[in-house]
Amino acid sequence: GGTIGILGGGQLGRMLALAGRNLGYRFVTLDPTEDAPCGQVADEQIKAGYDDVEAARKLAAKSDVITYEFENVDAHVTDILMKESYVPQGSKLLYTTQHRLREKRAIEAAGVPVAPYAEIGSPEQLRETVLRFGTPCVLKTATGGYDGKGQWVIRSLDEVEEAYETLSRAKTELVLEQFIHFDKELSVIAARSPRGEVKAFPAAENIHVHNILHQSIVPARIPSEVQQEAEKLAVRIADSLGVIGLIAVELFLTKDGQLYVNELAPRPHNSGHYTMEACRTSQFEQHVRAICNLPLGSTELLSPVVMVNLLGEHMEPLLQQMDKPGFLESEERGVSAKVHLYGKLEAKEKRKMGHINLLAGDVNQALAWIERTGIWESK
Ligand code: ATP
Ligand code: MG
Ligand code: MG
Repeated sequence: GGTIGILGGGQLGRMLALAGRNLGYRFVTLDPTEDAPCGQVADEQIKAGYDDVEAARKLAAKSDVITYEFENVDAHVTDILMKESYVPQGSKLLYTTQHRLREKRAIEAAGVPVAPYAEIGSPEQLRETVLRFGTPCVLKTATGGYDGKGQWVIRSLDEVEEAYETLSRAKTELVLEQFIHFDKELSVIAARSPRGEVKAFPAAENIHVHNILHQSIVPARIPSEVQQEAEKLAVRIADSLGVIGLIAVELFLTKDGQLYVNELAPRPHNSGHYTMEACRTSQFEQHVRAICNLPLGSTELLSPVVMVNLLGEHMEPLLQQMDKPGFLESEERGVSAKVHLYGKLEAKEKRKMGHINLLAGDVNQALAWIERTGIWESK
């Protein structure tokens, strides 16, 4: 038993708390929003901003172990939490993964390839580097980006000034990356515990729509050697960074079989939601096990699965479909659908409201189910 404090009150924290409860833990979350998805299921929500020092102290006082569900945690707050409670993931992992340049250097130090990149300090330097890398290439802010926000795909030299000026407003370093003409995007989530045990979940094939994850397909439709190589790279990164808890590794796979890491996330990841029904242990339970120094659970895949995200615009068609008998289980077609909703009140466009895990005899049956329902037609 004991109490786990979560910095952040979103759906990742919610599913973490739901999983951890089954292992007998209690949960306190710190989040400023009314009806936060995690606050609804935690034993207590401390309603305050993530940079509120007094609230952080309160969270520390109530928690035996502290974790977070996003990586942009204020360094000062981390210091307080580390001094006044126990943060097994440590501050170094956050420091590294908060910043694309530090993150890329750490991945390279683990002996794992990343796309060619350069730090950019001026428009002139950007122009030179775009010439060197060739177009297209991708300019990104070093910190704070998500869902493709804070990046600019430079397709011609004419865009250099505007791209530089626009992203500079974020007041952080800029990174230019060579564009990888990937065949597939993959992710692997690995867990590592303080006793040094490491386990990777099966690689997921990820489909993005407008830079937001739409589907994760498992097993990924790639050769099994590539699956194993991707999982090996994730384990190598987890070991090299001394990760405690989960590390999500996003990768590009090119036509000729080369893997490059795109970015990392030191927390549960949307592309790991498929594990909730499809693996012997979910990513959420695994994270709890890792930070509490319990033995890690088996990551065995029990069934082929497709995870599909439910955004605000999908909620109306979903609710219509759910009224139909046999929606959740279409046994005759061998697909079993498990709906997860996060308890968010307002179904805003592009907002992640939930997801569905489709277990099937093979992933094509699950993909056909998605087509058939028409819920995602308006994407
Ligand atoms: P999130 O954290 O939500 O995954 P993000 O804003 O941190 O997204 P990235 O993951 O860096 O952004 O990039 C978003 C998407 O843009 C990638 O999933 C990929 O499809 C595309 N992309 C990013 N960098 C490159 C690159 N160097 N070459 C080709 N495509 C890229
Ligand atoms: Mg990111
Ligand atoms: Mg990403």
